Amino acid sequence: MSKKATTASNKTATSYTPLSIAPAQVLRGENCLANSGKAISKLGVRPLVVGGNQTITVIKPFLEPALTTEKLVSQFASYSPECAESSLVKLKDAAQKHQADLIIGVGGGKALDSAKLLAHQCELPIVTIPTSGATCAAWTALSNVYSEAGAFQYDVTLSRCPDLLILDYGLVRTAPQRTLVAGIGDAIAKWYEASVSSGNSTSTLLISAVQQARILRDILFQKSAIAIKNLNSDEWREVVDATVLLAGVIGGIGGADCRTVAAHAVHNGLTYILEAHNILHGEKVAYGILVQLRLEEMVQGNQLAASARQQLLQFYDEIGLPKTLEDLGLENISLAQLRHAAAIATKTQSDIHRLPFSISPEQLAAAMVSTVVKTAKIAPSNK
Ligand SMILES: [Zn+2]
Repeated sequence: MSKKATTASNKTATSYTPLSIAPAQVLRGENCLANSGKAISKLGVRPLVVGGNQTITVIKPFLEPALTTEKLVSQFASYSPECAESSLVKLKDAAQKHQADLIIGVGGGKALDSAKLLAHQCELPIVTIPTSGATCAAWTALSNVYSEAGAFQYDVTLSRCPDLLILDYGLVRTAPQRTLVAGIGDAIAKWYEASVSSGNSTSTLLISAVQQARILRDILFQKSAIAIKNLNSDEWREVVDATVLLAGVIGGIGGADCRTVAAHAVHNGLTYILEAHNILHGEKVAYGILVQLRLEEMVQGNQLAASARQQLLQFYDEIGLPKTLEDLGLENISLAQLRHAAAIATKTQSDIHRLPFSISPEQLAAAMVSTVVKTAKIAPSNK
């Protein structure tokens, strides 16, 4: 485009960013990992497999036969304790020593984020193998970086989505039930956050991402309770597809304008509380949605938010998502800790400021302790 044309183009035309919508290939099925060797071997012959210590032990008997059949020379490396800068340095070293030409990430969100970031930094192909339905990290072109102590630091936009995603339902079924419940919490947040962060946008891709987030929410409302009661049901597979795949599609299509808002900001704040470290990402985010709706209700007097919160409280009861700080096991944190979390979540660059009104740490702390409060007058709504 000529310089003149660039100047003449409108604001949106100059803000185009490359699209990273989906992995190049997705294999899925019952025990499909055992037959994935061929697809993996197309991407490299010396894979470095990145996961947590426990996951590596569990996955070796599944993955190794698939790799050796194709004569791939693999090495396993742990990202523990965190997807942190220091772990990345060690992993880069391991990749160089092994002369890796391919990275395979196995595990939950942090393991996959570490593997994706490593592949991005080393400019190598990346395969993701989620071992639970807890996040959509296997799909997305994004990694979250934490401190060694587990406090959220920043996220990194990666050059593309994974080259291959292997969703083995048999493997995911072995994960603790709590992980899928957390994944439901993280996935359902897409609607509550994207519908706010998209504002009044008329962008084709953004509108469609927000509508898919609504569909994702409805699928989860309908099928989650049945899914977690019966791991062999069609509903269970549909819900896993929703949390691992569809949630990723929404982030991919919506891109940078389909971002997180207060629910994830609250999550980020909570990661600074030591006692919160055993709480799963999606559990913190699920609680964060209630806080976000409570803020909309308290600051704007938004009745739709009030009834949406009541609807979610019922849903959380059904499937066991946390509704309060007590449910998160944080009943004994001090006021100073609560204030600190609220201060982190309301820092200038926080996504919480995508809310259409300004928020003080005090307002946020007040919302954080009143997520289950009954609202006097609730207008009927299907928000
Ligand atoms: Zn999330």
